[in-house]
Formats: sequence, structure tokens, C-alpha cells
Amino acid sequence: MTQPTPTQLEPMPGDWRRALAVVAHPDDLEYGCSAAIAAWTDEGRDVAYVLATRGEAGIDTLAPEECAPLREREQRASAAVVGVSEVEFLGHRDGVVEYGSALRRDIAAAIRRHRPELVVTLNHRDTWGGVAWNTPDHVAVGRATLDAAADAGNRWIFPELTEQGLEPWNGVRWVAVAGSSSPTHAVDAAPGFERAVRSLLEHRTYIEVLTDQDPETYVRGFLTGFTRAAGERFGGKPAVTFELFGR
Ligand SMILES: [Zn+2]
Repeated sequence: MTQPTPTQLEPMPGDWRRALAVVAHPDDLEYGCSAAIAAWTDEGRDVAYVLATRGEAGIDTLAPEECAPLREREQRASAAVVGVSEVEFLGHRDGVVEYGSALRRDIAAAIRRHRPELVVTLNHRDTWGGVAWNTPDHVAVGRATLDAAADAGNRWIFPELTEQGLEPWNGVRWVAVAGSSSPTHAVDAAPGFERAVRSLLEHRTYIEVLTDQDPETYVRGFLTGFTRAAGERFGGKPAVTFELFGR
């Protein structure tokens, strides 16, 4: 008996110019998403990054005040590899990011500054699928980003933003959630794959603490496995997947 073909994912919409990726930590986009970002910037699209924290609680052997500037530097270098020059840090506290109106307001302000049609974030659900528990920062930032895509267009939810000269932006058409266990869409990972490897390798301090393996072997192995598994539902091509919410 042959196995049934798994439900195939749709290609991501292509009729947009600007994307804003909003995630909790340095490296959140590089663990799987940056091959898609490289493909988008190759096509001449603008992509900017907003990070809720500076990732200062991410390395056991480094105190937060030493860790924050280092991870900020690594994140900027890693963004540059995939053609992203604008990287902002919102300064929420790593590990204890709270879902709420302060976070929604900060993300809505970023959306108004950048005026994207596509917003990208990371899995906002309790698990990665099955029993792999997600972290509270990812859940808070993912949910707040989905909410802020609408908040950004409403003049009266955060009137202080309008007073700061940030006019409402109603142009977000989709929020694409990376790392979802219920993906709907995908991007071919092949054209951006080598840059995705180099982009994740820029988080060198973090990776050297994480694994005893040679960093490049580890990164290449991780991204190969990740994009190949996703590709089973994208015509067998290595892929980056998203759950796409329309607005
Ligand atoms: Zn993270």
C-alpha cells in the first residue's frame, strides 16, 4: 500500500513589498525562518526585524549585562547576512516578557513605524506540537503581535502613539506564524539556504555554549533536517513553513 500524500502547503502570497518580523529573542528567526527572509530580500522586498528582548538571559555563563550587547551585535550581524539592515530591540526583560497592553502598544508602534503588509512572528501556542512545551516569551510575543497587527490600525486603542506622530497603519494583510504545528503556507528554502546557515552561525557565542559539536556541522544539520521535514508537504522541496492569518 502506498502512503497517502500529506496535505500540501500553499506558496506564500507574493503581492507585497514590506515585511516586519517581530519575535522575542535574538536567534528566533535564524532557527528556521531566515532562508525565507533571504529569498524575500533577493526579490527586492524590504524586511525589518523587531526583537522584544535583547536575549540577555540566554547564556548561563554570561551575566545579563555582558550578554545583552553581545547578543545584540550577533543579531545585527545575522540579519545583515540575509539582507536585513533594520533591527530594533524593544527592551522587554528576557524570560519574563508579559503579554499585555504594554507589549501590544510597543509592537503596534513598530508596525506603525515600518508600515508592513506582511508581519512575521514565531509560534504563539503552548506547544511546538505534541508535548514539546513552548516558552512563555514566545507565547506572549506571538499573541501580542497577532493582536498588534489590528491595534496598529485603530486610532483610539493607543492614542499616545498618534500623539507621538505615529499615524494608524491599516495595511497589514497577513500575519505569518513561523514554527507553527499547523502550517498552511511555505517558501522554498533552497535559494536562501546557504545564507540561512551563515546567518544562524553569527549567533556563535550562543551556539558554542549550546553544543559541543563543531558550530557549522550543528547549524547545517539542524537547518537541513528542519527544512527537509517541512518539504514533505511542499512537493518534496526543502521549505520554511508558516501558518498564515489573513486580515
Ligand atoms: Zn526564543
